[in-house]
Amino acid sequence: MPISEQQQHHLRQLPAVDLLIGLSQNEPALAAIPKTVLVRAIRETIESKRRQIMEADAAFNPDHLRSDHLIPQVIRRVAKLQAYNLKRTINATGVVVHTNLGRSCLAQEALDHVAAVAARYSNLEFNLELGRRGSRYSAVEDLLCEMTGAEAALAVNNNAGAVLLSLDTLARGQEVIISRGELVEIGGSFRIPDVMAKSGALLKEVGTTNRTHLRDYQQAITTATGLLLKVHSSNFSIVGFTATVPLDELVALGRQFQLPVMEDLGSGNLIDLTRYGLTAEPTVQDSVKAGVDVITFSGDKLLGGPQAGLIVGKRTLVERIKANPLTRALRIDKLTLAALEATLRLYRDEASAVQKIPTLRMLLAQRPEIERRAHLLAQALSALVDSRISVERMDLASRVGGGALPLLDLPSSCVAIRPTGLSVNDLESGLRKHRPPIIGRIENDLFIMDARTIQDDEIEIIVSAFKAIR
Ligand SMILES: *Cc1c(COP(=O)(O)O)cnc(C)c1O
Repeated sequence: MPISEQQQHHLRQLPAVDLLIGLSQNEPALAAIPKTVLVRAIRETIESKRRQIMEADAAFNPDHLRSDHLIPQVIRRVAKLQAYNLKRTINATGVVVHTNLGRSCLAQEALDHVAAVAARYSNLEFNLELGRRGSRYSAVEDLLCEMTGAEAALAVNNNAGAVLLSLDTLARGQEVIISRGELVEIGGSFRIPDVMAKSGALLKEVGTTNRTHLRDYQQAITTATGLLLKVHSSNFSIVGFTATVPLDELVALGRQFQLPVMEDLGSGNLIDLTRYGLTAEPTVQDSVKAGVDVITFSGDKLLGGPQAGLIVGKRTLVERIKANPLTRALRIDKLTLAALEATLRLYRDEASAVQKIPTLRMLLAQRPEIERRAHLLAQALSALVDSRISVERMDLASRVGGGALPLLDLPSSCVAIRPTGLSVNDLESGLRKHRPPIIGRIENDLFIMDARTIQDDEIEIIVSAFKAIR
C-alpha cells in the first residue's frame, strides 16, 4: 500500500539516532549506560514509532515524535534492557516444587558454599590427601551412600540424564521390561519410551495400564532381556482397580534371572513424609533396602537441592556407568556440586533439614504458620484502602508439584483479591510484570495468592506491587 503524504511527513520528523544520543548526554539516568545498550534502546524506540506511522496505528500521536517524549521512552527501554532476563520471582501459586518457577530454592548453607567454592579455586578434581588428580564425583559419593545405604553413587547434570546414562550403560541393544502403567511423560517432553529409544535400549512393555503382575514380567523375559525397569508415575495416579508388583518381588525376579533391576524414582525423597502427616512417598533408602540395583532421582524436586541427577546402587554397576563416555557429556558442574554437597549434609540431622531446606520447610509448614502469613498479607493489602480491590482470606489447597504426590491437597491459607476497578486479568498481568514478578493464580475471577510458598520478607514487596498497579 502506498503511504500517504501525511505519513511521509511524519517519517521525516523521526529524529536521527545521533540526535537522540546527543540529547541523552544531558540525562542523568542515561549517563553511565554502555553505548551499545543506549544505541539499541534508541534504535528500538525510533523503530517502534516508524512502525506506528507505517501501520497508521490509531494510537499514534505526532506530538510523540518530539524528543522530550522520546527520551523518557529510551530511559524505560534502557531499564528493561539492563534488567536480568532470569530474575528472582515471588511464587504465590502454592505449588512448592514449581517447575516453571525454578523448582527448589536453595538453603542458605548451599548458597554460602556455592559462593565460597565459586569465587576461588577448589579441589574439584584434585585429591588433597594424595596430592594428585582426583574425581569430582567424590565430593558427594560418600554422602549419598551414607544417606541412602547404597554401595556407590554418582551425580550428573539432571535426572533425565541419569536415566539416559543408566539405560545406555546397562541395556543398550537389549530389551528393557517395564509395566505399561509406568510409561510416563513428565513435563518438558521427557517421555520414558523416547529416552529409552535414545539410549539404544528396546522397550518391552508388559501388563495393562491399570494392572501389571509379576507373571507379566516373568513371561516377557527372554535371552534378549537386559534390564527390569520400574518408573515412579510422578505426576499422575491410577486409582481404582489397580495392581503393581512390589519392589522386592521384582528384585527377586531379577535375581532369579540374573537381570539388574533399575528404578527411576523421579523426585528423590530421603525422609519419611508420613511422620509429618503427609501421604507416603517412597524414599531412596526403601529402594536400596529392597535390593534395587540402580536407582535414579532428581536433586531439585523433593530433595530440595540444585538441579542434578543422582544415581545410587550396586558398586559394579555404578562403576560401569561412571566409565561410560556419556558421563562426561552429562557431568555435573562445580556450582551444582557445591550446592548439592551442602544440601546433602543438612540431611544428617533431619530436624534441621526440614527447617533449613526451603522445599521441605514449605512442604511441611504447619497450618498456623501459613495462616499467620496469609493474615499479615491480607491485613497489609486491606490497609491500602484501594477502592479497586477487596481482600479476603480463604482456605484453599496447595500442591507439592515436581511430580510428587499428585493427588495430595495440602490444606493452606490464601489471600483472595476481588478486583472491582480493574479486571482480574489486568491485575494478574500487572503483578506478573512487576519487579520482582509476583505469580499467583486466577480462580473464579479472584486473584489467589497462597501463603505457603510466600516468604515473610516478600509480603512488603507484594504490597508495594499492588500500590504500583494502575
Ligand atoms: C522429574 C522426573 C524425571 C526427570 O528429572 P529431571 O531432574 O527433571 O531431569 C525423570 N523421571 C521421573 C519419573 C521424574 O519424575
